[in-house]
Amino acid sequence: MSNNVDIPVLIAGAGPAGLVLALTLAQNGVNVRIIDKEPFYRPGQRGAGIQPRTLEIFNYLGILDDVRAKGIKSPYQRRVYKLPGGVEILKTTIMLEQDDPTPSTPIPNTLHLGQENSEAILRAHLAKYGYSVELGTELRDFEQQPDHVIAHLLKKDGDQEKTETVICRYIIGTDGGKGVTRKQLGLTFQGETRATHVLSGEVEVFGLETDYWHQWGDLSTMFCMMRPTENPNCFYVALGGQIDYQKLESDEEEFLKAVRKAIDRTDLQFGKLRWITSWRPNIRMVNKFREGRGFVAGDAAHVHSPTGGQGLNSSVQDSFNLAWKLAFVEKGWASSDLLDTYTEERLPVIRAMLYESTTLLNALEAKDVGADDKAWRRGSVLKMLGINYRWSSIVVDERSPDKPKEAVNVYGGEKGGDLRAGDRALDAPALSPVSGDQTPTSFFHIFRPVYHTVLLFTADTSAAAPILEALKRYPSGSLKIVVVYPRNTAGNANPVAGADLAVVDTEGHAYAAYGASPERTLAVVVRPDGVVGAVVYGLEGLKAYFGAVFSAI
Ligand SMILES: Cc1cc2nc3c(=O)[nH]c(=O)nc-3n(C[C@H](O)[C@H](O)[C@H](O)COP(=O)(O)OP(=O)(O)OC[C@H]3O[C@@H](n4cnc5c(N)ncnc54)[C@H](O)[C@@H]3O)c2cc1C
Repeated sequence: MSNNVDIPVLIAGAGPAGLVLALTLAQNGVNVRIIDKEPFYRPGQRGAGIQPRTLEIFNYLGILDDVRAKGIKSPYQRRVYKLPGGVEILKTTIMLEQDDPTPSTPIPNTLHLGQENSEAILRAHLAKYGYSVELGTELRDFEQQPDHVIAHLLKKDGDQEKTETVICRYIIGTDGGKGVTRKQLGLTFQGETRATHVLSGEVEVFGLETDYWHQWGDLSTMFCMMRPTENPNCFYVALGGQIDYQKLESDEEEFLKAVRKAIDRTDLQFGKLRWITSWRPNIRMVNKFREGRGFVAGDAAHVHSPTGGQGLNSSVQDSFNLAWKLAFVEKGWASSDLLDTYTEERLPVIRAMLYESTTLLNALEAKDVGADDKAWRRGSVLKMLGINYRWSSIVVDERSPDKPKEAVNVYGGEKGGDLRAGDRALDAPALSPVSGDQTPTSFFHIFRPVYHTVLLFTADTSAAAPILEALKRYPSGSLKIVVVYPRNTAGNANPVAGADLAVVDTEGHAYAAYGASPERTLAVVVRPDGVVGAVVYGLEGLKAYFGAVFSAI
């Protein structure tokens, strides 16, 4: 591979998609540059609803504690107030489905944290690897060559402007819905733009309960929604319906006056308005995520209605899917064909996401009372835990060999069915190490974006020996091999040569979650993005999986 590049990966756009990509690549030891055309970091709540699937990714990236410390438990009920008056509660409805944690799904509910704060956390973690966002640095255009990309940047510092040419091996456009990368790559962006228009802002409100979403009116007249944020006394406010959007967007006093009019109540005190922004639902997606050495992720690849809170989440999940594949190719472990599976896996998921968010938008626009309840009820599917890649060409499943030929049911695996290759990897607590530090651990403490985890469920380490021997051929550090003994085997459970860890499944959660049995050795491979890559019974299945992903060694 040619080393005549300035940087292996250039990331254009430092929103959530760009930052997650940069952090995951940095953790994988791949050098990046991450640029953003803005001279400062954008304030605002925007993608504040962080879904459980994304929280799991944040766990793998090591940022979950910070996100939890700063974020708030999402209010899950909505209060609708009677107008005129705006104080009497017309109804209280469940808005977000609440689930109890289980051993396999310890993070079952959405958390709220404004995008400005989650981005700040991502930047702080990126800084630990020596990287920072280059602000005021715009990607203007680029040319692709067979083994590199030549990118042209414009750097602004006050009145000063400077151009720079960067030679990189890969360019990733995480430059949002209006970014240049998608256009430069010649990708299509088909869909529709709706007439619905909503202004949103964040304002100090005193006297309003912080356990609810609060709603007054609907889009046919005047609509106002308020949701508490992590910033003390601050509420996210959405305002729509028959209002003068242009005037209100540019005049804070008028915006607050309109909010007061929409809610028609005098008992609330308003303080500082932090920001106002406007949005119209734009529902579009690319035809593919890659062209040669160029890729798109996040809003650069798909834009949609914020109903259902899937945008930031999908953006993070795009980047997490792409990062490990890019790291494999960059390290010379995989051929660039692996990068085609990024489109293969993500495109159907994004198509389904557009369907889910547009269904909610349609209900919101329907303007009748029944539809209104549907519009604001976010079902469990929006937690994104069921998103799977069962149809992916690289996943291998010997237990359920009827792999779907095409993407079906991508947003939700069959409830109650066996876990399959392509599904989200499950947690299991109370795993007791057989040697060294005996503190019980869990799979979610073990899975990380820098290696594949091979879970060998076995009571018989002699059956595992040839597998462990064969896995030695893969690069050092690329696999974490964990032998999982069934419960009640503590007396016979010994460390295993060739494995990184051996644990006893003391409460049986691991065997239950993965459908393993003490009678037959089962190997489950968890990819660096927390997806089950393989469910196999032995060496042949493992060779089939690893042969495809380590295709260059
Ligand atoms: C009102 C509203 C509410 C929302 N609520 C939710 C929610 O609850 N949950 C959810 O998941 N999502 C929500 N979203 C969507 C979410 O904000 C976006 O999906 C998310 O920001 C996408 O992240 P991204 O990194 O792909 O793009 P962005 O956040 O748009 O970041 C793109 C970055 O690229 C930079 N850039 C652009 N062009 C260039 C260039 N040429 N060179 C260098 N840099 C460039 C931009 O300055 C920007 O910083 C909401 C959005 C809105 C508007």
